[in-house]
Amino acid sequence: MAIATINPATGKTEQTFDALTDAEVDRRIERAAAAFAGYRRTGMAERARWMNAAAGVLEDEADEIAVMMTTEMGKTVKAARAEVLKCAHACRYYAEHAAGFLADRPADAAAVKAGRAFTRYRPLGPVLAVMPWNFPLWQVIRFAAPALMAGNVGLLKHASNVPRTALFLEELFARAGFPEGAFQTLLIGSGQVEAVLRDPRVRAATLTGSEPAGRSVASIAGDEVKPTVLELGGSDPFVVMPSADLARAAETAATSRCLNHGQSCISAKRFIVDERAAGEFEELFVAAMRAQKVGDPNDDDTDIGPLATEQGRADVEELVQDAVEHGATVLCGGRRPDGPGWYYPPTVITGITPEMRMFREEVFGPVASLYRVDGIDEAIALANATDFGLGANAWTTDEGEQERFANELDAGQVFVNGMVTSFPELPFGGVKRSGYGRELSDLGIHAFCNAKTIWIS
Ligand code: NAP
Repeated sequence: MAIATINPATGKTEQTFDALTDAEVDRRIERAAAAFAGYRRTGMAERARWMNAAAGVLEDEADEIAVMMTTEMGKTVKAARAEVLKCAHACRYYAEHAAGFLADRPADAAAVKAGRAFTRYRPLGPVLAVMPWNFPLWQVIRFAAPALMAGNVGLLKHASNVPRTALFLEELFARAGFPEGAFQTLLIGSGQVEAVLRDPRVRAATLTGSEPAGRSVASIAGDEVKPTVLELGGSDPFVVMPSADLARAAETAATSRCLNHGQSCISAKRFIVDERAAGEFEELFVAAMRAQKVGDPNDDDTDIGPLATEQGRADVEELVQDAVEHGATVLCGGRRPDGPGWYYPPTVITGITPEMRMFREEVFGPVASLYRVDGIDEAIALANATDFGLGANAWTTDEGEQERFANELDAGQVFVNGMVTSFPELPFGGVKRSGYGRELSDLGIHAFCNAKTIWIS
């Protein structure tokens, strides 16, 4: 895949970039290793000052950064602006809390026959982050803010279709005052990742992206015995029980499915509705999906802009076609509009059966599959009938049912009467083929630390 900025709203290539040569990559890894030797000794207050300065840049320049993101991957400017501000919040969150999260954890000294014994969190070194285009700023910041606060240094291999955002991220941390080499962008294709991962100066890796990319990075890192965090795909269920506020559930369902034009790992994708509520929910949900305004991502009243890549739209169309050929029914949408740009309308499909690809595969576009079930046991069984386990949404006011969903849905996060989203304050990650490890909260900062036991007589 060429490294290029191609505007998804027009299909026009705006700028192309040369990949770094292997010698240039080597120089940057060397710079990262050299930077780490000094950076690991910086104090928490100093790092916090730089991290708050990064937040300040994001806040001050949110409008320009948002336009850059929209031009590269097509999200609406209003969503991009919200993403920039969310990143600023995460930077400030870790600037404030990192010292507490990384404070020494005392143990019972007498029990281990020590004068003093405790756990101390030390950084690992240069960490490679392989990141996707869908939230091009947020995915990187949610790794970089805790990793840098812990004293690691970062090497970013961003998706090939967001090079301007990738270069901006390096510039952001440099302008905020972080030492040279503390955070660098490697403009490289995915074929150059293996050599970076195998380099002994690189100590760990994190990948957010698809399952094949995750499997590749994890197996190479495993071969090198390096720790990884994987945030992969999802096919989140959205379960609706009869006691739910159906109007609010349907409205939220459409918002979640159309989030980022359907290109979000935690966007609800499978809507599983108890028969007793199914007729009414279906009507409300289809109306809410039809009401989403598709159009120019630069307009403030647009809800859905183009999909990020031409291939991405072709993949969505293929999944819809496969379902229709096998007997599914399209309740709305289902056909690309004429004209330039990689647009695809909000679509609801019913009558999905296990032989259709959509039953098992993640649909990365605004396409909802709607299922009817008879009671909570069937709802939980269908919700869990997927290889993924990222997020899950459940709608019910019955406390007994809420407990069952909390305990029995196989997912990294369960949101009840609301839609799955991420907050710096809460851990984020998946189970099953959605990955392993956690980002955000205190768990996210510990992911790239050596939890070192210190025993002093
Ligand atoms: P992708 O193709 O896997 O790309 C993600 C990143 O991995 C890009 O930087 C890509 O580089 C790189 N890459 C691809 N194949 C690789 C390989 N074999 N070795 C090393 N690096 C490789 O994913 P995508 O299509 O951009 O993103 C969509 C997927 O990401 C969806 O499945 C979505 O659910 C998932 N996602 C998960 C989360 C989460 O937090 N769990 C969040 C967002 C997205 P190139 O661009 O150069 O190919």
